[in-house]
Amino acid sequence: MLGTARTLATVRYRPGVVGETRRVSHLIVVEEQHHLPHAVVTRCGLRMRQGEAEVLDTVCGMPCERCLIGC
Ligand SMILES: [Zn+2]
Repeated sequence: MLGTARTLATVRYRPGVVGETRRVSHLIVVEEQHHLPHAVVTRCGLRMRQGEAEVLDTVCGMPCERCLIGC
């Protein structure tokens, strides 16, 4: 049996949700779907609710180091 298709997406907090210094780019593993679930958990363990997160086309700004190394 083949596994479910998964891909990485880049998310960060929307402006105004947190201070600018916390708006780093995090990575999430996304199952094949067309929208974000109600909440996402980043690779570094941060939980973001729908409405708090924005999906980015690429890593921009400061990347989250813990997401990049896969903690
Ligand atoms: Zn992260």
